[in-house]
Amino acid sequence: MEKGQVEPRPVLVQKFGGTSVATAEKRAQVTGHVRQALQQGFAPVIVVSAMGRAGAPYATDTLLGLVKDIAQDTPARSLDLILSCGEIISAVIMAETLRAAGIPAAPFTGAQAGIITNGQFGSARVLRIQPERLWQALDQGIVPVVAGFQGVTETGEVTTLGRGGSDTTAAALGVGLRAVEVQIFTDVNGVMTADPRLEPNARTLQTISYREVMEMAQLGAKVIHPRAVEIAMEGRVPLRVLATGSNNPGTLIVDAREISHRAGEPVTHVEIRSDRVVRAVTQM
Ligand code: ADP
Ligand code: ASP
Ligand code: MG
Repeated sequence: MEKGQVEPRPVLVQKFGGTSVATAEKRAQVTGHVRQALQQGFAPVIVVSAMGRAGAPYATDTLLGLVKDIAQDTPARSLDLILSCGEIISAVIMAETLRAAGIPAAPFTGAQAGIITNGQFGSARVLRIQPERLWQALDQGIVPVVAGFQGVTETGEVTTLGRGGSDTTAAALGVGLRAVEVQIFTDVNGVMTADPRLEPNARTLQTISYREVMEMAQLGAKVIHPRAVEIAMEGRVPLRVLATGSNNPGTLIVDAREISHRAGEPVTHVEIRSDRVVRAVTQM
């Protein structure tokens, strides 16, 4: 590389769930993870869920309740429009939190991020990603913060991807941007042998195959959305489930054949498996 040329940066998608962005304290932890990714030489792309769980002012269930108080037969198109707002609020707040910490960042709705879906309101499927605007931001050294759980149809209708669908946004962006890894930050240390709310002795797994975790998710373990696993598996992007605010490497989800030689290995070094890298540097 010539002197003065900027080191290329591989894309790393980092998704933060509702509890991870619920308070200023948690958002400061998110900022720490983003800063660390930048310092490690990655170009992070952030995906956020709506802030907090049921009862929080802009949580998905709260928005749903606002409409249900008026009518029981709200058109699915209207429901998707209001539900998409929780993630949009979260994206703006997280982008501003990053900017306030000196990290250039900009929020994007699903539509602005180029997430094109079919027209199945409430559980739309991602058809393709048109990530030009995200590449533009990355090339300018700006960290994109994308509103999870939503997309847009070819005709401009706002859609949502099904409950828990921000994971799907992260996986789809991971494939579309040819990311080195998609990190799903949440309120547990990783994929566990059972739901820790029901089984206090549950253990965190170091690695698990796409197929095994998909089976768990389909059986109702909501730690990760099954469609996110499917998309990552087909696109051959590794997933990692880990806790916000912790340095624990969490659970790596890869193809069964890769498990033996990648077990527990955290992404602490730049491993360029991507043919699309970003050339801008973000100030820290
Ligand atoms: P987020 O808002 O970050 O997307 P979710 O509530 O959707 O978080 O998923 C995390 C939750 O999944 C955990 O708090 C945990 O109770 C639950 N869960 C269910 N099964 C499992 C499992 N096998 N391993 C880990 N967490 C699990
Ligand atoms: N906020 C949405 C939900 O509660 C999407 C998500 O959290 O992934 O289902
Ligand atoms: Mg979830």
